[in-house]
Amino acid sequence: MKLKELNKISDTLSSSPTMPVLFLGHGSPMNAIEENEFVVGFRNMAKEIPRPHAILCVSAHWETRGTFVTAMEKPITIHDFGGFPKALFDVHYPAPGSPELAHETKNIVKKTDVGLDEKWGLDHGAWSVIKHLYPQADVPVIQMSLDYYQAPQYHYELAQELSSLRKKGVLIIGSGNMVHNLRLVDWNKLNEDSYGYEWALEASDKMKKYILNDAHQLLIDFQAQGKAFELAIPTPEHYLPMLYALALKEENEVVNLFNDKPVGGSLTMTSFKIS
Ligand code: ZN
Repeated sequence: MKLKELNKISDTLSSSPTMPVLFLGHGSPMNAIEENEFVVGFRNMAKEIPRPHAILCVSAHWETRGTFVTAMEKPITIHDFGGFPKALFDVHYPAPGSPELAHETKNIVKKTDVGLDEKWGLDHGAWSVIKHLYPQADVPVIQMSLDYYQAPQYHYELAQELSSLRKKGVLIIGSGNMVHNLRLVDWNKLNEDSYGYEWALEASDKMKKYILNDAHQLLIDFQAQGKAFELAIPTPEHYLPMLYALALKEENEVVNLFNDKPVGGSLTMTSFKIS
């Protein structure tokens, strides 16, 4: 997409409906090539929402000092994992980038100077899920990084500055996992239906309650929510993309949960749409 086209989109869509926002629980990279209920959930979601002009994805797997957006024409597929079958390394998701959207994002964010990145690409937090939404790889995708020096409140406020993109046909996706403790995963029970430890279910239930009741501040202050949250969020990178999505919710919008299941004891695949 050329700058002229994006401007045209900006102009013509100024009165068009606001795009939904998604938070997607991505789970294991194997979801990229496996057929299971979660990928069916992603696929169905794409059918439910208007086709976007472009996607901005905040992935758990791109942490930087400062905030960056990918600005290249052709982002490479990054296989940022080890110990998986060759079939997974063979996956390439050749969606185009959108330097124009990267520039536009830089222009609208006032909270920080967003850097334009030419080196990253699409990590599995982005491609393993977007692949199921748009298998033809024909929707341009940019990623936005997570500044790991910043507090949750900062991320929430930064995300709010992205809201005008929703009115320009841009689908904003947060990709992570709300409950994500890899160290405690029971690998033998990964395929057992809805297997979650007690603390994982407790944290998950509270998170969902807060999400559905617009209790955003409690979710921003996740470090003050007790033991279950501590175990669910040992490091913040998989949780923060959820805050990015939630920060974009307007007062009159609703949150619809899907793929709402625990896996392997200490992960949840819970995803949602805001519209
Ligand atoms: Zn991940």
